[in-house]
Amino acid sequence: MISMTYNIALLRGDGIGPEIVDSAVRVLEAVGEKFGHEFKFTPYLIGGAAIDECGEPLPKETVDGCLASDSVLLGAVGGPKWDNLSGEKRPEKALLGIRAALGLFTNLRPAKLYPALKGDCPLREDIASGGFDIMIVRELTGGIYFGDRGYRTGKYGEEAYDTECYSRFEIERISRVAFETAKKRRGKVTSIDKANVLETSRLWRKTIHEIEKEYEGVTCTDMLVDNAAMQLVRNPSQFDVIVTSNMFGDILSDEASQLTGSIGMLPSASLGDNTRGMYEPIHGSAPDIAGKGIANPIATILSAAMMLRYSFSLMDEADCIEAAVDKVLNDGLRTADIIGDSGATPLSTTEMTDAIIARL
Ligand code: NAD
Repeated sequence: MISMTYNIALLRGDGIGPEIVDSAVRVLEAVGEKFGHEFKFTPYLIGGAAIDECGEPLPKETVDGCLASDSVLLGAVGGPKWDNLSGEKRPEKALLGIRAALGLFTNLRPAKLYPALKGDCPLREDIASGGFDIMIVRELTGGIYFGDRGYRTGKYGEEAYDTECYSRFEIERISRVAFETAKKRRGKVTSIDKANVLETSRLWRKTIHEIEKEYEGVTCTDMLVDNAAMQLVRNPSQFDVIVTSNMFGDILSDEASQLTGSIGMLPSASLGDNTRGMYEPIHGSAPDIAGKGIANPIATILSAAMMLRYSFSLMDEADCIEAAVDKVLNDGLRTADIIGDSGATPLSTTEMTDAIIARL
């Protein structure tokens, strides 16, 4: 086995951020020991913690440190202490800044319903019973959120407009991520658009099928976004990889995440042109439970597993973490947010982390 050293920038952030990032670090250290890799961690300030220390949410040292790292693990930022600051100075501003600095144009968001947690799924039992495992690939730096916008005077007086624009280059780039991702999974891509109305969607559809020809063994079908919103609640298990634009991905990934029951379970990855990515749970800093030691660390631990898979190509190591999470859930262990009707005694953040490490 080849032993490698990986340099990971740690952005603990605010609220429960430090607690859950430290859990993920312990899991990575245990995996490193088991498989013979060294993970080196360097902490940098971000969000409210950075405002308190240096007066700005994203210090240059943090950006430079992340750029010099092999990958970035982020907790969460924000909290009531900084809520009254103006836009530019808010902790959340750091997230956009660091994504832009690292050139992250893809957001990968898995929505997986663990059979052990199917009681938490809001869907009917016959739909939820088989579980589902979807990977949403969302374009992150183009489309209507970044297009030309403004106010003007129109036929009815004051009006506002936002513009959806996608280049062939941007569509090709995100298509390749989707096909590469599908190759590592069940080989099925569903491309979601609104090609019956939007010109950008017609270019999207044409381009993605051109790229599809480069990928043997992966299939790609199209689905209109309105139908996709229905299909996600009607039959989520039909999906493997979903690829879609920035705005459709924003909406559908939130819809899909709710189907899994708990926000404390869901990881995410943001990727760019190189193997360096940024990995973070989808939830926020949970100020209501910060410092109590009861946060669910699983979303961050699974984010670390995604880092192993997508940045370092350590597939067995990633599988090992994901299997350990499966095992704790199957063994009936729960943090407070995923108790549901299980009757389990809630574990603390540390106890859940220990239980996962014991099952690696
Ligand atoms: P939140 O996700 O922090 O919390 C929503 C609810 O889920 C809370 O009741 C919280 O206790 C619970 N929760 C979240 N993560 C949990 C976990 N791991 N274990 C157990 N319970 C968990 O959302 P919010 O309350 O709307 O936002 C709080 C702060 O986080 C705000 O300042 C917001 O701007 C910020 N935020 C940051 C990010 C990020 O850093 N990426 C994302 C969303 C929100």
